[in-house]
Amino acid sequence: MPHYRAAWLLPISQPPIRDAWLRTDRGRIVAFGHTRPGDFTSPDEIDLGEVAVLPGLVNAHTHLELSWMRGRIPETDDFDGWIRRVIELKNQSARHGDDFSASIDEAILEARAFGTVLIGDITNTLATSRPLQEHGMAAVVFHELLGFRDEDAARLMEEATARLEGEPASDLVRHALAPHAPYSVSPALFGLIRAALQHAPFARSSVHLGESAAEIEFLKHGTGPWREGLEQMGKWDPSWVFPRSGPVEYLDRMGFLDDRVLVVHGVHLTAVELKRLASIGVTLVTCPRGNMRTGAGEAPIEDFFASGMRVAVGTDSLASVPDLNLFSELEEMRRLAPALPARVLLESATINGARALGFEADFGTIDSGKRDALIAVQLNGYVPSVEEYLVSGIDASQITWIPAS
Ligand SMILES: [Zn+2]
Repeated sequence: MPHYRAAWLLPISQPPIRDAWLRTDRGRIVAFGHTRPGDFTSPDEIDLGEVAVLPGLVNAHTHLELSWMRGRIPETDDFDGWIRRVIELKNQSARHGDDFSASIDEAILEARAFGTVLIGDITNTLATSRPLQEHGMAAVVFHELLGFRDEDAARLMEEATARLEGEPASDLVRHALAPHAPYSVSPALFGLIRAALQHAPFARSSVHLGESAAEIEFLKHGTGPWREGLEQMGKWDPSWVFPRSGPVEYLDRMGFLDDRVLVVHGVHLTAVELKRLASIGVTLVTCPRGNMRTGAGEAPIEDFFASGMRVAVGTDSLASVPDLNLFSELEEMRRLAPALPARVLLESATINGARALGFEADFGTIDSGKRDALIAVQLNGYVPSVEEYLVSGIDASQITWIPAS
């Protein structure tokens, strides 16, 4: 039964513990606390030294299958141009029949090296499901659907269901269906995914919402780059009646939103919309570094928290960020919201993500009974506030995994 000592322990469910001890057994946390002078020292004790021990982090939103796009799309302030470039690259690769499995493997290893224990992964192809299983990375694999024409909804849903049935699920890697966004998914398809959620044994969903100004224009006025894009791609549905509302009201009226849904980005949602989401109990997943680089805009981090919503954090894909370092997302959140306590930012990257993805019994806090999937972050020199230190930028070289018992 391994017994550890460390300068700091951050259970997340309670304040940091100085000079801490921790015991684990057969993969689970057994007990932990503050070391008092004269406390018994066990012979198999492992002194981790000047480190902060915390639960493995939760990346609540990424697209591992886009990992091969790393470095291929320049930073821009034109979101519409950015997403067109992603579509172009996807189409090119589909024509070449490229195999991106190596980049998916690398991305999973990279996420782990940055201290990630659980991933909310968005995939159109399900290519990430098997690698996640093979690497033993806990995940919710959201099979994301796109299709703006109502008439295609039943077929798209049938195909997706058949693909999912062919994928081995496990306790570690679970599957769910996710509509991409209000401007790319028909009301009929939203309805079918919603209906499936009612019967799914593991019921979660995710939707990109309020990501760009163009999305708001499309829903309120039926015009702008999304309308043009859908028409150009031959995917416009002339029977679609624009809702004349913001995205929250649009999905709310459809009955799509509830506390099992992860709403991703939310950059362009109003205070009223954020409050509504908070009252429904959805989790908002912010991806602040990606938002800056894709031209979506600056994530209103303080507004998210002020609304009372549960906020989780993701890196988004390597098409938009240079790495899968969640600590860098926390650093960006700290930059955008200097007044927020570091504690709540750390909750975003741990327990809030674990709850949103339905893995809170295993991950997200250091509490007895949870998995011993813990990381030790090297503290370089005197640290006045360990929580503040952890949101000020941590590199992979500072992170080690505590050996599993
Ligand atoms: Zn995304």
